Formats: sequence, structure tokens, C-alpha cells
Amino acid sequence: MKKSRYDENESIHGCDLELLCEFFSNLERQGPGSPEATIKALGFIDNLDSASLIADIGCGSGGQTMVLARHAPGQITGIDLFPVFIDLFNRNAGQLNLQDRVKGVVGSMDALPFRDEQLDLMWSEGAIYNIGFERGLNEWRRFLKTGAYVAVSEATWFTEERPAEIEEFWMDAYPEIGTVSGKVAQMQKAGYVPVATFVLPENCWTDHFYTPQEDVQEDFLEKNAGNRSAEDLIANLRHEARLYFKYKEYFGYVFYIGKKI
Ligand code: SAH
Repeated sequence: MKKSRYDENESIHGCDLELLCEFFSNLERQGPGSPEATIKALGFIDNLDSASLIADIGCGSGGQTMVLARHAPGQITGIDLFPVFIDLFNRNAGQLNLQDRVKGVVGSMDALPFRDEQLDLMWSEGAIYNIGFERGLNEWRRFLKTGAYVAVSEATWFTEERPAEIEEFWMDAYPEIGTVSGKVAQMQKAGYVPVATFVLPENCWTDHFYTPQEDVQEDFLEKNAGNRSAEDLIANLRHEARLYFKYKEYFGYVFYIGKKI
């Protein structure tokens, strides 16, 4: 079974975790995505009412959770491994006056605090890779009611073949990256009807992910001047961004929406 990369005290970015959390706590989102993409994915889900129970797994500071809360009825629990993100999450929920419906809890996606068949929707943007797409879909399924939904975004190849440089980067970062058809087959095999897939538009990576990082990177380097790990972290993030722009026709994030059968 694939271990969480976080067990190794090293992230997908190959960097020190505490610094990574500090860096990303200065940003609204910790992964690629956008309010429009969240709302589009939500458009495929038709089973929600004010009594619904929703979980957002690997919620980070809750950028996408607050969008969900404004566009869907029900109670939402955000789960993240890192208390710094959950503190920010609960502060954000309070500021938006959503604290009665939206709560952040520290926890791990491989030991979720839910009962069998309790949930109407399990959401996870840019986070399921931490336990792996296939393992996550298989293990989370029992928490869903029959007819309930899972909606996750996941790193995906757009082509059957790609240049060695980007292939090697992903084989090191997340070898479970696969094609849309491969991921859909895994979803089907895990016991869901694949209801929809769509590719996240480029602005999910640019306007909502890499561009906001630029100023934060400058400030972070200034604040951590002389700290080799901090410099390495920023160098890795900049390398990752360069690879995205160089190879964006070959990979991206895809939203997968499935219904438990
Ligand atoms: N959903 C957010 C964050 C994505 S980044 C967004 O789209 O902006 C991935 C998130 O997964 C991080 O917040 C990280 O802290 C969290 N994470 C990593 N391992 C985890 C685990 N085992 N259980 C729960 N959350 C985890």
C-alpha cells in the first residue's frame, strides 16, 4: 500500500514540511483550482439539501470549502493533517459567518472520523494524491450513502506519451498520475458510476495558483534570508511552475465526479 508522502516528512515538492505549511498559509489556496471550477463540479451533484453532510478532505485553509458552502446546502466538515491550515480554515469560516455550517477538524485522510454511510458528498481538491487516487476512492467509499457523490481533482496526463523531462518529474513526485480513461476505469472499479470529468482550465494554475505565489515567494525569501531549506523550497516551487508552463499540453488537473452504487 502506498504511504502518504507526509509520512516521510517530505512533500510532493521535495521540501521541509513546516516551511511548506508556512509558505502556503500565506495563500488562499494550496493547490490549483478556482471558484468557477468548484461551482462547475458542484453542478453535477443533485442530492443535496439542508440536512446533507459533506466532507472536504485535505481542505487546506478552505479556499474551495467556502465556495462550496456558499453554493451548496448542508453541513461541511473540512479535514486536514496540519493544524495551521485548520486554524486558518476556522477563522475564514467565522469571517464569512459560516461557522454554524462549516467546521475544520485536524485529521488524516487515511483515518477519517466518519461513520459508514454517513456522508452525502466527499470533496477533495488537489489532495487525494497524498494517499493515492485509487486507494482514496476505495477507502472513502464506505463513508458514503448509496447514491452519494465523490468529487476529486487529480493530476492527469493528457497524452499517451510525453517528453522525458516531465515524465521523470512526475514519476518522482507522484507515479500514480495517469490518463483520464485510466482514472475513470479506477473509479468504476472502486464502485462508483463515473458521472463527469472535466479538465481544469489553465487559469486554475496561473491566476489562482502560480501568480499569487510570486509576491509570497519574495516575502518568504526575505523573511527566511540565509535559510537553505527555505531557499530550496522556493527553488523547487519555481522549477515546478516552469515545468507547468513548458509542458501544460501534456498534463494538468482533472475533476472526477462519481456516484456510489
Ligand atoms: N484543497 C486545498 C488544498 C490542496 S493541497 C486546495 O485545493 O487549495 C493538499 C492538502 O492536503 C494540504 O492542505 C495538506 O496539508 C493536506 N494533506 C496532506 N496529507 C494529508 C493527509 N494525510 N490527511 C489530510 N490532509 C492531508
